[in-house]
Amino acid sequence: MTDVWDYAPAPESRDVVDLRSEYGLFIDGKFVEPAAGGMFKTVNPATEEVLAAVGEADATDVDRAIAAARRAQTEVWGPMPGAERAKYLYRLARVLQERARELAVLETLDNGKPIKESRDVDVPMAAAHFFSYAGWADKLGHAGYGTDPRPLGVAGQIIPWNFPLLMAAWKLAPALATGNTAVLKPAETTPLTALVLGEILQQIDLPPGVVNIVTGAGETGRALVDHPGVDKIAFTGSTSVGKQIQRALAGRPTRLTLELGGKAANIIFDDAAVDQAVEGIVNGIFFNQGHVCCAGSRLLVQESVLEPVLDKLKRRLGTLRVGDPLDKNTDLGAINSSEQLARITELVDSGVEEGADRWQPECALPDRGYWFAPTVFTGVSQSHRIAREEIFGPVLSVLTFRTPDEAVTKANNTPYGLSAGVWTEKGSRILWMSQRLRAGVIWANTFNRFDPTSPFGGYKESGFGREGGRHGLAPYLA
Ligand code: NAP
Ligand code: MG
Repeated sequence: MTDVWDYAPAPESRDVVDLRSEYGLFIDGKFVEPAAGGMFKTVNPATEEVLAAVGEADATDVDRAIAAARRAQTEVWGPMPGAERAKYLYRLARVLQERARELAVLETLDNGKPIKESRDVDVPMAAAHFFSYAGWADKLGHAGYGTDPRPLGVAGQIIPWNFPLLMAAWKLAPALATGNTAVLKPAETTPLTALVLGEILQQIDLPPGVVNIVTGAGETGRALVDHPGVDKIAFTGSTSVGKQIQRALAGRPTRLTLELGGKAANIIFDDAAVDQAVEGIVNGIFFNQGHVCCAGSRLLVQESVLEPVLDKLKRRLGTLRVGDPLDKNTDLGAINSSEQLARITELVDSGVEEGADRWQPECALPDRGYWFAPTVFTGVSQSHRIAREEIFGPVLSVLTFRTPDEAVTKANNTPYGLSAGVWTEKGSRILWMSQRLRAGVIWANTFNRFDPTSPFGGYKESGFGREGGRHGLAPYLA
């Protein structure tokens, strides 16, 4: 007999995924070997097991992909009526739904995120983006961008590892709906769902060359940016790489949108419903191990309620389940790579050195793989690195304020401006705050809510341009 009632393991089956040992590049509708023959391995960050070898595209491969995209754009996809393009996007959305379980398991294997997130967020949201933009394809003349808006041509799209399939959908759906063709560069550590997406594009008979997928590391991305044949670059990733891309494109006619990092304030007023706010804080920073550009990584709590908020937050964090990402009961999965784990560890160490107080709930971490326990810092001052730099991990920095003015000043005291959260009973205060917070998205009494019809994007060093909704069409139209 035991007085502890523990969860039984509830792992999702891997059998739904049919992993090949090797994947080529997806160019002109076919999987092809990289010109120079280079391959790299992608691992499961929860176990360090090698999942597959993947082709490494160099400048020659990127050139082939862009040539295929150009041909497809001028000969097939561009001239095609919007209503016909819409059919392909609907078909793609339907197949993503049909193969949702396979894609969710594969995303969790390659990325390390909990299966409940890949199953309930990443994959359904990816399908929702294609459904939503399929609806725009034949209505572009009514979107507010002139009566006959034209595509730009060939889009180069570079995405990060935190939401691999979902970011591919955010990029491809508006580009294809508007008549552009694309060359997509997935992140080095998470190429697999993009490659299965290539198989799905074959399954739906998408005309060859409309979407091309070039896997590789940063060099592959650089080759795409440097190629004179791209009409647009859409980049999601770090602010430092975003700045490099902006410099590379200076003086060229290539259009650019950048979705970069963030250091969002999640602001709790003394009249907020504390239990709901605590759930929102947890969702804001521990969803996807905190590998979220719009994560609520700076908690601003009104001083008079600091104690009850922290008490409840710590109690709640003690119930989070960290471990096997394929287990349906897991709340926090693996850190995506050893590099990211090293980055998080270095920043957390700096927090301790600079004098903040670190707290972690008791939790046993697996021996193999890359893991980091949920972490809360109190006694944080605005000058600490953990209050200024993006950690991109399960680490929350807690600060306090006394008045709404002080909350706004502290929230805006960051080079970033991607998102913010406000928790209060008062509707007027929500409006007052959202007029003053310099962030692209402001959530009120919720956090991390997404919808394909809602635009998303940043201010300042979080980038420019919007993705999602009607606004997300503009960056792909001439
Ligand atoms: P990253 O290093 O900037 O990588 C992003 C993508 O760019 C990857 O595909 C990467 O390839 C590629 N890349 C690297 N160097 C390049 C270069 N010189 N030229 C062209 N492409 C290059 O970012 P990360 O560390 O993987 O991702 C985390 C960052 O992304 C965080 O800062 C986060 O805030 C941000 N992010 C922002 C959003 C948003 O919507 N605003 C969403 C998600 C993530 P490799 O992976 O192969 O290196
Ligand atoms: Mg991987």
